[in-house]
Amino acid sequence: MTALTEENDVGREMYALVEELYPICRSITGNGLRETLGIIGRRVPLEIREVPTGKAVLDWTVPREWNIQDAFIKNARGERVVDFRASNLHVVNYSIPVHERMSLEKLRPHLYSLPDRPNWIPYRTSYYEDAWGFCLTDEQLDSLPQGEYEVCIDSTLATGSLTYGEHVLPGETDDEILISTHVCHPSLCDDNLSGVAVSVSLARELARQKDRRYTMRFLYAPGTIGAITWLAENRERAKKIRHGLTLTCLGDSHPFTYKRTVGGDTAIDRAATHVLATSGVPSQIIDFFPYGYDERQYNSPGFRIAVGSLMRGRHGEFPEYHTSGDDLAFVSAARLAESFGILRDIVDVLQNDRTFENTSPFGEPQLGRRGLYRALGGTSIPGLQFAMLWVLNLSDGEHSLLDIARRAKLSFGAIRTAADLLVQHGLLVLRGP
Ligand SMILES: [Zn+2]
Repeated sequence: MTALTEENDVGREMYALVEELYPICRSITGNGLRETLGIIGRRVPLEIREVPTGKAVLDWTVPREWNIQDAFIKNARGERVVDFRASNLHVVNYSIPVHERMSLEKLRPHLYSLPDRPNWIPYRTSYYEDAWGFCLTDEQLDSLPQGEYEVCIDSTLATGSLTYGEHVLPGETDDEILISTHVCHPSLCDDNLSGVAVSVSLARELARQKDRRYTMRFLYAPGTIGAITWLAENRERAKKIRHGLTLTCLGDSHPFTYKRTVGGDTAIDRAATHVLATSGVPSQIIDFFPYGYDERQYNSPGFRIAVGSLMRGRHGEFPEYHTSGDDLAFVSAARLAESFGILRDIVDVLQNDRTFENTSPFGEPQLGRRGLYRALGGTSIPGLQFAMLWVLNLSDGEHSLLDIARRAKLSFGAIRTAADLLVQHGLLVLRGP
Protein backbone atom coordinates (compact mmCIF):
# COMPACT_ATOMS: atom_id res chain seq x y z
CA MET A 1 0.00 0.00 0.00
CA THR A 2 1.04 3.61 0.20
CA ALA A 3 3.79 5.00 2.36
CA LEU A 4 1.13 6.93 4.26
CA THR A 5 -0.60 3.78 5.49
CA GLU A 6 2.71 2.35 6.59
CA GLU A 7 3.55 5.54 8.50
CA ASN A 8 0.18 5.48 10.21
CA ASP A 9 0.84 1.93 11.35
CA VAL A 10 4.20 3.02 12.72
CA GLY A 11 2.49 6.00 14.37
CA ARG A 12 0.01 3.72 16.10
CA GLU A 13 2.80 1.38 17.17
CA MET A 14 4.68 4.34 18.72
CA TYR A 15 1.62 5.75 20.42
CA ALA A 16 0.84 2.32 21.89
CA LEU A 17 4.34 2.18 23.38
CA VAL A 18 3.92 5.66 24.88
CA GLU A 19 0.60 4.52 26.40
CA GLU A 20 2.19 1.40 27.86
CA LEU A 21 5.10 3.29 29.41
CA TYR A 22 3.12 6.31 30.60
CA PRO A 23 1.91 5.00 33.99
CA ILE A 24 5.34 3.87 35.20
CA CYS A 25 7.15 5.90 37.86
CA ARG A 26 10.59 6.22 36.30
CA SER A 27 13.64 7.92 37.72
CA ILE A 28 17.38 7.98 37.09
CA THR A 29 17.68 4.64 38.91
CA GLY A 30 15.32 2.01 40.26
CA ASN A 31 12.65 -0.46 39.30
CA GLY A 32 10.57 1.94 37.20
CA LEU A 33 13.59 2.40 34.96
CA ARG A 34 14.15 -1.38 34.81
CA GLU A 35 10.49 -2.03 34.01
CA THR A 36 10.68 0.56 31.23
CA LEU A 37 13.76 -1.07 29.71
CA GLY A 38 11.99 -4.44 30.03
CA ILE A 39 9.07 -3.16 27.94
CA ILE A 40 11.41 -1.62 25.34
CA GLY A 41 13.27 -4.93 25.32
CA ARG A 42 10.13 -6.77 24.20
CA ARG A 43 10.25 -4.68 21.01
CA VAL A 44 13.98 -4.54 20.35
CA PRO A 45 16.54 -6.83 22.00
CA LEU A 46 18.34 -4.81 24.68
CA GLU A 47 21.59 -5.41 26.44
CA ILE A 48 20.98 -4.23 29.97
CA ARG A 49 23.81 -2.87 32.13
CA GLU A 50 23.73 -2.33 35.86
CA VAL A 51 26.41 0.04 37.17
CA PRO A 52 26.76 -0.05 40.97
CA THR A 53 26.05 2.81 43.34
CA GLY A 54 29.21 4.64 44.33
CA LYS A 55 31.10 3.91 41.14
CA ALA A 56 33.03 6.94 39.89
CA VAL A 57 31.88 7.90 36.39
CA LEU A 58 33.83 10.76 34.82
CA ASP A 59 33.47 13.60 37.34
CA TRP A 60 30.33 12.08 38.87
CA THR A 61 29.35 9.16 41.09
CA VAL A 62 26.57 6.67 40.44
CA PRO A 63 23.91 7.64 43.01
CA ARG A 64 21.96 5.50 45.42
CA GLU A 65 19.04 3.68 43.89
CA TRP A 66 15.59 5.18 44.45
CA ASN A 67 12.43 3.17 44.70
CA ILE A 68 8.95 4.15 45.82
CA GLN A 69 5.91 2.13 46.87
CA ASP A 70 3.39 4.78 47.81
CA ALA A 71 2.98 8.37 48.95
CA PHE A 72 0.12 10.51 50.20
CA ILE A 73 -1.02 13.48 52.21
CA LYS A 74 -4.04 12.62 54.35
CA ASN A 75 -6.33 15.18 55.94
CA ALA A 76 -7.69 14.98 59.50
CA ARG A 77 -10.47 12.66 58.28
CA GLY A 78 -7.90 10.23 56.90
CA GLU A 79 -8.70 11.03 53.25
CA ARG A 80 -5.91 11.15 50.71
CA VAL A 81 -5.93 14.74 49.50
CA VAL A 82 -2.72 14.16 47.51
CA ASP A 83 -2.24 10.61 46.23
CA PHE A 84 0.76 9.10 44.43
CA ARG A 85 -1.55 6.41 43.10
CA ALA A 86 -3.46 9.05 41.14
CA SER A 87 -0.30 10.50 39.56
CA ASN A 88 3.34 9.70 40.20
CA LEU A 89 4.12 13.36 39.47
CA HIS A 90 2.69 14.12 42.93
CA VAL A 91 5.98 13.13 44.55
CA VAL A 92 9.18 15.09 44.03
CA ASN A 93 11.24 12.48 42.19
CA TYR A 94 14.02 11.06 44.42
CA SER A 95 12.31 12.21 47.64
CA ILE A 96 13.77 10.73 50.80
CA PRO A 97 11.26 8.79 52.92
CA VAL A 98 9.08 10.63 55.40
CA HIS A 99 6.16 9.61 57.60
CA GLU A 100 4.99 12.30 60.02
CA ARG A 101 2.04 14.27 61.17
CA MET A 102 2.48 17.97 60.69
CA SER A 103 0.64 21.25 60.39
CA LEU A 104 -0.06 22.81 57.01
CA GLU A 105 2.38 25.54 57.96
CA LYS A 106 5.18 23.01 58.41
CA LEU A 107 4.15 21.08 55.30
CA ARG A 108 3.81 24.15 53.08
CA PRO A 109 7.55 24.57 52.18
CA HIS A 110 7.46 21.02 50.76
CA LEU A 111 4.56 21.70 48.38
CA TYR A 112 4.99 22.81 44.77
CA SER A 113 2.30 24.01 42.37
CA LEU A 114 1.93 26.15 39.25
CA PRO A 115 -0.13 29.27 40.01
CA ASP A 116 -0.19 30.16 36.29
CA ARG A 117 -1.53 26.71 35.36
CA PRO A 118 -3.83 25.86 38.26
CA ASN A 119 -4.95 22.49 36.80
CA TRP A 120 -1.52 21.02 36.17
CA ILE A 121 0.87 19.19 38.44
CA PRO A 122 4.50 20.25 38.06
CA TYR A 123 7.30 17.69 37.63
CA ARG A 124 10.16 18.25 40.05
CA THR A 125 13.21 16.27 41.05
CA SER A 126 15.71 16.26 43.87
CA TYR A 127 18.39 13.91 42.60
CA TYR A 128 21.48 15.29 44.23
CA GLU A 129 20.30 16.61 47.60
CA ASP A 130 18.37 14.83 50.32
CA ALA A 131 14.96 16.44 50.29
CA TRP A 132 11.32 15.49 50.02
CA GLY A 133 8.27 17.16 48.61
CA PHE A 134 4.92 16.91 46.88
CA CYS A 135 3.73 18.46 43.64
CA LEU A 136 0.05 19.26 43.29
CA THR A 137 -2.27 21.42 41.29
CA ASP A 138 -2.66 24.97 42.51
CA GLU A 139 -6.36 24.24 42.95
CA GLN A 140 -5.52 21.35 45.25
CA LEU A 141 -3.14 23.54 47.21
CA ASP A 142 -5.74 26.28 47.62
CA SER A 143 -8.28 23.78 48.89
CA LEU A 144 -6.13 22.54 51.79
CA PRO A 145 -7.53 23.92 55.06
CA GLN A 146 -5.37 24.69 58.07
CA GLY A 147 -4.96 21.72 60.34
CA GLU A 148 -2.89 18.62 60.79
CA TYR A 149 -1.93 16.26 57.97
CA GLU A 150 -0.45 12.79 57.80
CA VAL A 151 2.43 12.96 55.33
CA CYS A 152 3.94 9.77 53.94
CA ILE A 153 6.50 9.04 51.27
CA ASP A 154 7.23 5.33 51.32
CA SER A 155 10.47 5.45 49.35
CA THR A 156 13.93 3.95 49.70
CA LEU A 157 17.32 5.33 48.78
CA ALA A 158 19.81 2.52 49.02
CA THR A 159 22.91 0.98 47.52
CA GLY A 160 21.89 -0.55 44.20
CA SER A 161 22.71 0.36 40.64
CA LEU A 162 22.00 2.58 37.68
CA THR A 163 20.47 0.77 34.73
CA TYR A 164 20.77 1.48 31.04
CA GLY A 165 19.98 -0.49 27.90
CA GLU A 166 21.48 -0.62 24.41
CA HIS A 167 20.51 -2.13 21.11
CA VAL A 168 23.15 -2.48 18.39
CA LEU A 169 22.61 -3.20 14.69
CA PRO A 170 25.97 -4.06 13.12
CA GLY A 171 27.02 -2.35 9.90
CA GLU A 172 29.76 -2.89 7.33
CA THR A 173 32.09 -0.81 9.51
CA ASP A 174 32.33 -0.50 13.26
CA ASP A 175 32.00 3.25 12.93
CA GLU A 176 28.73 4.12 14.57
CA ILE A 177 25.65 6.30 14.47
CA LEU A 178 24.30 6.86 17.98
CA ILE A 179 20.62 7.42 18.72
CA SER A 180 20.39 8.41 22.38
CA THR A 181 17.22 8.86 24.40
CA HIS A 182 16.76 9.62 28.08
CA VAL A 183 14.38 7.29 29.88
CA CYS A 184 14.15 8.80 33.37
CA HIS A 185 10.99 10.90 33.35
CA PRO A 186 7.88 9.49 35.05
CA SER A 187 4.39 10.08 33.62
CA LEU A 188 5.31 12.58 30.90
CA CYS A 189 4.68 11.74 27.26
CA ASP A 190 6.42 14.20 24.99
CA ASP A 191 9.48 14.50 27.20
CA ASN A 192 10.64 11.72 27.11
CA LEU A 193 8.41 8.87 25.95
CA SER A 194 8.00 10.24 22.42
CA GLY A 195 11.77 10.04 21.91
CA VAL A 196 11.84 6.48 23.23
CA ALA A 197 9.00 5.42 20.92
CA VAL A 198 10.53 7.00 17.80
CA SER A 199 13.91 5.44 18.58
CA VAL A 200 12.40 1.98 19.10
CA SER A 201 10.44 2.13 15.84
CA LEU A 202 13.53 3.25 13.94
CA ALA A 203 15.51 0.33 15.37
CA ARG A 204 12.74 -2.06 14.32
CA GLU A 205 12.60 -0.62 10.82
CA LEU A 206 16.38 -0.66 10.31
CA ALA A 207 16.60 -4.24 11.56
CA ARG A 208 14.58 -5.22 8.48
CA GLN A 209 17.04 -3.52 6.13
CA LYS A 210 20.27 -4.98 4.81
CA ASP A 211 23.49 -3.34 3.63
CA ARG A 212 24.05 -0.94 6.48
CA ARG A 213 27.28 1.02 6.25
CA TYR A 214 27.45 2.30 9.82
CA THR A 215 26.72 0.30 12.92
CA MET A 216 23.61 1.70 14.63
CA ARG A 217 23.65 2.08 18.42
CA PHE A 218 20.41 2.83 20.25
CA LEU A 219 20.99 3.94 23.83
CA TYR A 220 18.24 4.18 26.45
CA ALA A 221 19.70 5.73 29.60
CA PRO A 222 18.64 8.15 32.32
CA GLY A 223 19.33 11.79 31.50
CA THR A 224 22.71 13.32 32.34
CA ILE A 225 23.99 10.69 34.78
CA GLY A 226 23.06 7.88 32.36
CA ALA A 227 24.91 9.42 29.43
CA ILE A 228 27.85 10.22 31.70
CA THR A 229 27.86 6.64 32.96
CA TRP A 230 27.72 5.25 29.42
CA LEU A 231 30.60 7.49 28.33
CA ALA A 232 32.65 6.47 31.38
CA GLU A 233 32.02 2.78 30.74
CA ASN A 234 32.58 2.98 26.97
CA ARG A 235 35.42 5.41 26.41
CA GLU A 236 37.00 3.43 23.58
CA ARG A 237 33.71 2.63 21.91
CA ALA A 238 32.71 6.29 22.10
CA LYS A 239 35.59 7.08 19.74
CA LYS A 240 33.81 5.05 17.07
CA ILE A 241 30.72 7.25 17.06
CA ARG A 242 30.80 9.36 13.92
CA HIS A 243 27.33 10.90 14.12
CA GLY A 244 24.57 11.01 16.67
CA LEU A 245 21.25 12.44 17.75
CA THR A 246 19.46 12.85 21.02
CA LEU A 247 15.69 12.56 20.70
CA THR A 248 13.02 14.17 22.80
CA CYS A 249 9.70 16.06 22.47
CA LEU A 250 8.79 14.38 19.17
CA GLY A 251 5.07 13.75 19.68
CA ASP A 252 3.72 17.30 20.04
CA SER A 253 2.30 19.54 17.32
CA HIS A 254 5.03 22.19 17.26
CA PRO A 255 7.28 22.69 14.22
CA PHE A 256 10.46 20.63 14.20
CA THR A 257 13.56 21.94 15.92
CA TYR A 258 17.06 20.74 15.14
CA LYS A 259 19.77 21.77 17.56
CA ARG A 260 23.21 21.73 15.98
CA THR A 261 26.31 20.01 17.35
CA VAL A 262 28.95 22.19 18.98
CA GLY A 263 30.91 21.99 15.71
CA GLY A 264 27.84 23.35 13.93
CA ASP A 265 28.61 22.06 10.43
CA THR A 266 29.30 18.37 10.85
CA ALA A 267 27.74 15.64 8.70
CA ILE A 268 24.80 15.20 11.09
CA ASP A 269 24.17 18.95 11.02
CA ARG A 270 24.18 18.97 7.22
CA ALA A 271 22.02 15.85 6.98
CA ALA A 272 19.42 17.04 9.51
CA THR A 273 19.13 20.57 8.13
CA HIS A 274 18.83 19.30 4.58
CA VAL A 275 16.16 16.71 5.38
CA LEU A 276 14.13 19.31 7.28
CA ALA A 277 14.56 21.90 4.51
CA THR A 278 13.33 19.52 1.80
CA SER A 279 10.65 17.64 3.76
CA GLY A 280 7.98 20.31 3.50
CA VAL A 281 7.38 20.39 7.27
CA PRO A 282 7.87 23.62 9.26
CA SER A 283 11.14 23.61 11.15
CA GLN A 284 13.73 25.79 12.80
CA ILE A 285 17.45 25.20 13.17
CA ILE A 286 19.06 26.41 16.38
CA ASP A 287 22.68 26.64 17.36
CA PHE A 288 24.28 24.48 20.03
CA PHE A 289 24.16 25.64 23.63
CA PRO A 290 25.56 23.72 26.61
CA TYR A 291 22.18 23.11 28.20
CA GLY A 292 19.36 20.75 27.32
CA TYR A 293 19.70 16.98 27.06
CA ASP A 294 22.55 14.54 26.66
CA GLU A 295 23.98 16.18 23.56
CA ARG A 296 25.87 18.36 26.02
CA GLN A 297 27.70 15.35 27.46
CA TYR A 298 28.59 13.95 24.02
CA ASN A 299 29.74 17.36 22.76
CA SER A 300 31.90 18.09 25.85
CA PRO A 301 35.52 18.97 24.99
CA GLY A 302 36.99 15.62 26.04
CA PHE A 303 34.64 13.72 23.71
CA ARG A 304 33.48 16.17 21.04
CA ILE A 305 31.19 13.56 19.52
CA ALA A 306 29.05 15.12 16.81
CA VAL A 307 25.61 14.67 18.38
CA GLY A 308 22.78 17.01 17.50
CA SER A 309 19.30 17.02 18.92
CA LEU A 310 16.00 16.45 17.15
CA MET A 311 12.83 17.83 18.73
CA ARG A 312 9.54 19.36 17.79
CA GLY A 313 8.67 21.70 20.71
CA ARG A 314 11.80 23.07 22.35
CA HIS A 315 12.17 21.75 25.87
CA GLY A 316 11.40 24.40 28.45
CA GLU A 317 9.63 26.61 25.93
CA PHE A 318 6.09 25.25 25.81
CA PRO A 319 3.74 25.42 28.79
CA GLU A 320 3.08 21.68 29.06
CA TYR A 321 6.81 20.95 29.44
CA HIS A 322 7.58 19.19 32.76
CA THR A 323 3.96 19.29 33.89
CA SER A 324 1.02 16.89 33.93
CA GLY A 325 -0.13 18.78 30.80
CA ASP A 326 2.42 16.64 28.93
CA ASP A 327 0.01 13.72 28.90
CA LEU A 328 -1.38 11.21 26.40
CA ALA A 329 -3.55 13.89 24.79
CA PHE A 330 -0.57 16.16 24.21
CA VAL A 331 1.07 13.71 21.79
CA SER A 332 -0.42 11.94 18.77
CA ALA A 333 0.29 9.00 16.51
CA ALA A 334 0.29 11.33 13.48
CA ARG A 335 2.95 13.65 14.90
CA LEU A 336 5.04 10.69 16.08
CA ALA A 337 4.80 9.22 12.57
CA GLU A 338 5.96 12.49 11.05
CA SER A 339 8.92 12.61 13.45
CA PHE A 340 9.76 9.01 12.65
CA GLY A 341 9.83 9.87 8.92
CA ILE A 342 12.20 12.77 9.48
CA LEU A 343 14.53 10.74 11.69
CA ARG A 344 14.54 7.80 9.24
CA ASP A 345 15.43 10.16 6.40
CA ILE A 346 18.27 11.78 8.37
CA VAL A 347 19.76 8.37 9.16
CA ASP A 348 19.27 7.35 5.53
CA VAL A 349 21.38 10.33 4.44
CA LEU A 350 24.15 9.44 6.88
CA GLN A 351 24.12 5.80 5.82
CA ASN A 352 24.10 6.50 2.08
CA ASP A 353 26.01 9.71 1.52
CA ARG A 354 28.73 8.63 -0.90
CA THR A 355 30.89 10.34 -3.48
CA PHE A 356 30.79 9.27 -7.13
CA GLU A 357 32.58 10.18 -10.33
CA ASN A 358 30.99 10.81 -13.71
CA THR A 359 32.50 8.36 -16.23
CA SER A 360 31.55 10.60 -19.17
CA PRO A 361 32.55 14.03 -17.90
CA PHE A 362 33.22 15.78 -21.23
CA GLY A 363 29.91 17.39 -22.08
CA GLU A 364 26.58 15.90 -21.08
CA PRO A 365 26.27 12.19 -21.82
CA GLN A 366 23.41 11.34 -24.14
CA LEU A 367 20.75 10.04 -21.78
CA GLY A 368 18.16 9.01 -24.38
CA ARG A 369 20.56 6.68 -26.15
CA ARG A 370 21.16 4.87 -22.88
CA GLY A 371 17.47 4.47 -22.12
CA LEU A 372 17.65 6.79 -19.17
CA TYR A 373 14.61 8.86 -20.09
CA ARG A 374 12.66 5.61 -20.32
CA ALA A 375 14.01 4.63 -16.93
CA LEU A 376 12.78 7.91 -15.52
CA GLY A 377 9.30 7.19 -16.78
CA GLY A 378 9.08 4.24 -14.43
CA THR A 379 9.47 6.34 -11.28
CA SER A 380 7.25 8.87 -9.62
CA ILE A 381 9.95 10.88 -7.87
CA PRO A 382 9.51 14.58 -8.69
CA GLY A 383 12.57 16.31 -10.05
CA LEU A 384 14.36 13.08 -10.89
CA GLN A 385 15.49 14.26 -14.31
CA PHE A 386 16.90 17.42 -12.79
CA ALA A 387 18.47 15.32 -10.07
CA MET A 388 20.22 13.21 -12.69
CA LEU A 389 21.68 16.26 -14.40
CA TRP A 390 22.88 17.64 -11.07
CA VAL A 391 24.46 14.32 -10.12
CA LEU A 392 26.25 14.14 -13.48
CA ASN A 393 27.47 17.71 -13.19
CA LEU A 394 28.75 17.60 -9.63
CA SER A 395 30.06 14.04 -9.53
CA ASP A 396 33.65 15.12 -10.00
CA GLY A 397 34.94 13.06 -7.11
CA GLU A 398 34.75 16.06 -4.79
CA HIS A 399 31.04 16.38 -4.05
CA SER A 400 29.09 13.78 -2.12
CA LEU A 401 25.43 13.04 -2.84
CA LEU A 402 24.42 15.24 0.10
CA ASP A 403 26.55 18.10 -1.24
CA ILE A 404 24.73 17.72 -4.55
CA ALA A 405 21.30 17.53 -2.90
CA ARG A 406 22.05 20.73 -0.97
CA ARG A 407 23.26 22.57 -4.04
CA ALA A 408 20.31 21.37 -6.14
CA LYS A 409 17.81 21.96 -3.30
CA LEU A 410 16.38 18.54 -4.00
CA SER A 411 15.59 15.74 -1.60
CA PHE A 412 18.41 13.35 -0.84
CA GLY A 413 16.10 10.52 -1.94
CA ALA A 414 15.76 12.00 -5.44
CA ILE A 415 19.53 12.52 -5.74
CA ARG A 416 20.25 9.02 -4.49
CA THR A 417 17.72 7.43 -6.86
CA ALA A 418 19.25 9.38 -9.74
CA ALA A 419 22.73 8.20 -8.73
CA ASP A 420 21.55 4.57 -8.54
CA LEU A 421 20.14 4.81 -12.08
CA LEU A 422 23.35 6.38 -13.38
CA VAL A 423 25.44 3.66 -11.74
CA GLN A 424 23.23 1.00 -13.35
CA HIS A 425 23.82 2.63 -16.73
CA GLY A 426 27.57 2.90 -16.28
CA LEU A 427 27.69 6.69 -16.07
CA LEU A 428 28.77 6.86 -12.45
CA VAL A 429 31.35 5.01 -10.36
CA LEU A 430 31.88 5.08 -6.63
CA ARG A 431 34.86 7.12 -5.45
CA GLY A 432 34.29 7.07 -1.72
CA PRO A 433 34.10 7.30 1.11
ZN1 LIG B 1 12.88 16.73 30.80
